[in-house]
Formats: sequence, C-alpha cells, structure tokens
Amino acid sequence: MYKKLLAVLLCLCLAVTGCAAAIPETSEPLSITGLMLDTVVTITLYDGQRQQTLNGTLDVIEEYENMLSKTIEGSDVWNINHADGQPVTVNNRTAELIGIALKYCAMTDGAFDITIGHVSNLWDFKSERPAVPSEEAIAAAVKTVDYTCVQLNGNTVTLLNPDAEIDLGAIAKGYIADRIVDYLQSQGVSSAIINLGGNVVAMGSKGGSDWTVGLQDPFGRAQSPVAAVQLQNKSVVTSGIYERYFIAEDGMFYHHILDPQTGWPVNNELTSVTIISDHSVDGDALSTSCYVLGLEKGLELIQGIDGIEAIFIDDEENAYATSGVGGENGIPYLTLEDLS
Ligand code: AMP
Ligand code: MG
Repeated sequence: MYKKLLAVLLCLCLAVTGCAAAIPETSEPLSITGLMLDTVVTITLYDGQRQQTLNGTLDVIEEYENMLSKTIEGSDVWNINHADGQPVTVNNRTAELIGIALKYCAMTDGAFDITIGHVSNLWDFKSERPAVPSEEAIAAAVKTVDYTCVQLNGNTVTLLNPDAEIDLGAIAKGYIADRIVDYLQSQGVSSAIINLGGNVVAMGSKGGSDWTVGLQDPFGRAQSPVAAVQLQNKSVVTSGIYERYFIAEDGMFYHHILDPQTGWPVNNELTSVTIISDHSVDGDALSTSCYVLGLEKGLELIQGIDGIEAIFIDDEENAYATSGVGGENGIPYLTLEDLS
C-alpha cells in the first residue's frame, strides 16, 4: 500500500522542467526528497547547490510540521484542539498562519473552514481499507464546523466551542513552502524548485529563462500535460480530488476536499484547481477554496483578487485559465460571461 501510494504521488506531482539551454555540468541541480507532511517533498537547487542547504530545507519542514500538525502531540494545533476551550499561547508563526487562514474562511463565507477537523478525522484516506463514515457520525461532526469560534488575540488562540477542532491541512503546506523560500534566500539561493506534494514554488528563474510547469491530467489519462504555464518566481498550487481518495465497496469515489456544510466530499465537475500566486500560502488556501466553491464562484473569487491566476480542470480534461495565464500558454481563457 505504502509503495503504491508513493508511486501514485510521484506520478501525480506537477512536472517541472526548465526551458533554458543545457546548463554546464558543474552547476548540475541538486535535489533532496523526503516523505513529510503526509506526502512526498522534493527540493531542487539550481544555484548555491550545497548539501547542507538542502538538508536545512527538511529541517524547516520538520520544525513547522511539529508546530502545525493536528496529530503530533504537543504541536500548537494539537494544544489548541486539546485545551477544552481554554486560551492557548502559540508560536508567532502559528498565530500568523491562523490569522491568514481565518481571512480566507471569511472571504469564502466558510467554503474554506479550518474547523473542519472533526469531519476530516472521520475520512481516513490513509487506512488500508478506508470506510465511508456513518451518516450519524458526519452529521454530529459537521455541527462543530464554524470558523467564527476561533478567537485569535495576538499569540493566543481560543476555541470558543471546545468541541471544534482545527485542521490546517488545506493551507499549511503553502505557508511552509514560503518559509523554505525565506530560508533558501538567507542561504544565498535564488533559483530552486520546491515541491511539497503538488504545492510548487518555482523560485527565481532557470538560468534567466522561465520555468515551464506542466499540469498533468489528474488521473493520468492524457500522455502529455493537460496544460503548461511559463513563469518565474511564482507559487503554483493544485488542489485535486486525486490526491487523497478511495473507491468504496459500493463503487463510489470519495475524496478529501470536504463540504463544510455537509461533511461529505464536494461533488462537482472539477478534478483540480491550480492557483498561481506570489505567495504559496495564498495559493494553497485559494486552490482548496475554489475547488469547494466550484467553477463559477471560484472564478468570481479569483477575478476579484489582484495578482492571482487560476486554472480549472474539469472531468472532461478541459482546462480553463484566467486571463493572466491563458492565451499564450494554449489554455482557453475563462470569463464569467462564458459561464452565464
Ligand atoms: P488541499 O489539498 O490543500 O486542498 O487540502 C485538503 C485538506 O484540507 C484535506 O485533507 C483536509 O485536511 C482539509 N480540508 C478538507 N476540506 C476543507 C475545507 N472545505 N476547508 C478547509 N480545509 C479542508
Ligand atoms: Mg489547499
């Protein structure tokens, strides 16, 4: 099962290639791969290639995983979830991330909701034999989902509903990718690819040229990427229903992006949403948000935010982009008029 999962994750990772001319052997890129954050992480340095720097990136991930994981006992999130509604003092970084997350909860009117914890606990996609939770269990868990019960005051977090549970799984990888960028910059690296299980940051350029980031067909049906974008110094984050899913005995497909209103996987025509942004934390929050909101509302949300672009892929392998990434990349533009 483990090997199968690794293979699936590796082949679903975004394909990232540089389109610059071949670089001299002395500056061969240097990579490190690890199984962290419940996924495969790979960091590749295209300049400042030092093993020590690469090892340091995994230390950064570990540090933040120990702070933000809901399952690691003693993490900030674990402490908040086990405080019985009492105020909990957390690291500045945790407070900052919860603040950003709450902004997206409000912006999406709860389509993105970090108090999804009790519901996401019911959906165990890591089990050898995943089971569909009972309707009663989902109905009870969904009652605890309401981000307005998270009170953030400086470094203090209080769950006004002690039964609620925070899960930062939809935003933490993006935040951590941004922290790796900070770390690499501090080490003098200016050209790198950070890939945290589909959360990609294409840092700087590849020898002065754009990176080409290909978006694979979510289920591997198409031989070549469904879409590709050329960019420099951007985050490219995809939320897709193929990342974590199972097919139950009844033949139904269940995936990990959940509707905070019902507690069941969101059911719409999308297979993935990719967000291109300067900061990966925004891309991570918005890709999950747009998946939950669906094509029309998701597009409306993105069009209202400066400097953010999106690519939606539907279950017929159609890719649609917002105006900043379509066109020259061969992906049709999508406008709200198209949808009306
Ligand atoms: P992502 O892969 O970034 O789209 O995040 C999916 C993960 O975020 C899931 O595995 C859950 O842990 C959590 N999650 C699922 N649905 C939601 C939602 N509607 N709002 C916030 N987090 C969610
Ligand atoms: Mg996300």
